Amino acid sequence: MSVIYDRVALLGLGLIAGSMALAMREKGLAGRIVGHARSAETRQTALEIGLVDEVFDTAAEAVKGADLVVFCVPVGVMGQLAAEVAPHLETGATVSDVGSVKGAVIKAIAPHIPEGVHFIPGHPLAGTEHSGPRAGFASLFHNRWCLLTPLEGTDPKALDRLRQLWTEMGANVDEMDAAHHDLVLAVTSHAPHLIAYTMVGVADDLKRVTEREVINYSAAGFRDFTRIAASDPTMWRDVFLNNKEATLEILGRFTEELFDLQRAIRRGDGQQLFDYFTRTRAIRRGIIEAGQDTDAPDFGRVGKD
Ligand code: NAP
Repeated sequence: MSVIYDRVALLGLGLIAGSMALAMREKGLAGRIVGHARSAETRQTALEIGLVDEVFDTAAEAVKGADLVVFCVPVGVMGQLAAEVAPHLETGATVSDVGSVKGAVIKAIAPHIPEGVHFIPGHPLAGTEHSGPRAGFASLFHNRWCLLTPLEGTDPKALDRLRQLWTEMGANVDEMDAAHHDLVLAVTSHAPHLIAYTMVGVADDLKRVTEREVINYSAAGFRDFTRIAASDPTMWRDVFLNNKEATLEILGRFTEELFDLQRAIRRGDGQQLFDYFTRTRAIRRGIIEAGQDTDAPDFGRVGKD
């Protein structure tokens, strides 16, 4: 594959930026990859392990001469960083981001984007519970969706080029309106994370079950909650603060259904429970058929641990 962008500047050098850098390198999609992160330690690590060719102490220096700039920092700091880099962006460059929330990120970044620079927000639906520059891997985006939420009047050529980059990194690309993106993600990611955080918190609070029992017997379902609940606290704080409306709407619906199921258990309404679980089982089947998870027993863990 040939080079798609001559100089890519990654702002933030954690799991997502690291995976992008490795994926771009593997396929030769970028002429040069440079980066910036808040701490000298992260910058040094990113350079040492070969994620980037060069690091800069400031974001403003990092974006100079780049034809693609990607914000890979927590959602809550994107606005401040956009203000900082805006005067240094190259005319004709594309600015994108990988933030898990789109409406708030657009509000934070768009006002700073100068005339002649293309701003195309994006969100790869891929990740792990690990973070930092060492957490990245080249295949993270393989067969995962990357949602682009272009604003009205976006230059079709700039959009095509960014689409091509994500496709070459292994992702399936789709376009969506930002508000709809935030609602979809509230259902598929944000509310489930809050529920997992809560369940793990409840287990921690419940003094009648010992910590040892929770740890030893976690394979019965709880373990999958703990993986999600181990996700980066900064990232997830920012997600909830910035996708407030959609998350609250879905959590409202969730609590209503939970109460309904609670009542079915209390009343001994086996039919209601059975029907509900039959419907949800079909959703799991759909995810597997779409190639978005494995149908191996216990998520393929059996015999591995
Ligand atoms: P991460 O591994 O924690 O990396 C975050 C990076 O941002 C670190 O390099 C950090 O630098 C840097 N950073 C934080 N504040 C900064 C600031 N003020 N100025 C400059 N750099 C700063 O996070 P990640 O998982 O890659 O997530 C990055 C973005 O991707 C987030 O917006 C998140 O919503 C989105 N996302 C995450 C996932 C996921 O599952 N993890 C999936 C899709 C999208 P230091 O190391 O020096 O602190």
